[in-house]
Amino acid sequence: NNANSAILTVQGLSKSFGGVKAVNGLSFSVKKNHIHAIIGPNGAGKSTLFNLITGIISPDEGEVRFFSADITSLRSDHIAKHGISRTFQNIRLFPDMTVFETVLIGTYLLTGAKLAPALFLTKIFRENERAAKQRVEEILKFVGLWEMRDEYAAQLSYGNQRRVEIARALATKPQLLLLDEPTAGMNPKETKELMDLFTSVNNEGITILIIAHDMHLVNTLSDQITVINFGEKLVEGTAEMIQKHPAVIEAYMGK
Ligand code: ADP
Ligand code: MG
Repeated sequence: NNANSAILTVQGLSKSFGGVKAVNGLSFSVKKNHIHAIIGPNGAGKSTLFNLITGIISPDEGEVRFFSADITSLRSDHIAKHGISRTFQNIRLFPDMTVFETVLIGTYLLTGAKLAPALFLTKIFRENERAAKQRVEEILKFVGLWEMRDEYAAQLSYGNQRRVEIARALATKPQLLLLDEPTAGMNPKETKELMDLFTSVNNEGITILIIAHDMHLVNTLSDQITVINFGEKLVEGTAEMIQKHPAVIEAYMGK
């Protein structure tokens, strides 16, 4: 069944920092169109896992496959071109860019950003530019930031800054979106609004892999949950399945 096939497969992934096995022989897969949550205590290796998947760092061992492609250790911009994009645990926005400019930069990742200066004068460039701006407008309307397009991104509310990051991630037309604790530090209203946004993104056919601590969010949104601790998979299943699991209760009580 194509709708239920794996979009991302992680096999035997390991990464150590000094003596610390941050990710330790981790294997799991994400099904197409799912919202798949990664949960686990602080220091469990969740962000390291995202850094391995997106090519920020290379694994010591193991493999990452996206559809049928082996994307292990590819450069992060190449991985983005394959159709994976992400947001970071700590919001990363350039201080001197407007919302519109920030998302426009995201689209250049896709169209081949390293343009020769002469190309800026060509018809092809102007057509690409027009299409890119059109796409930015669509995305900003989709995430609810169109009215704020000319404001400096880094000066928006925390919730809206996260929206900008998500918009920038969407600019590369991802098939898989990785969100690292996107609602950490958000108030309940911002959290609810972001959850609605994740559902809308998912309804557009984008698969989501999300790291979160908020169990209400996890239980409400997730089709599948992978629990990790000390870089290893503890349990995997639906919200109903994992809630009852002693290892999950123990990992969270021990936090
Ligand atoms: P989580 O996101 O689940 O809280 P992390 O993946 O950030 O956990 O970290 C897992 C472990 O790896 C921690 O012990 C952390 O200190 C360590 N770690 C992560 N990144 C680095 C790094 N770049 N250098 C050294 N140690 C790191
Ligand atoms: Mg983390």
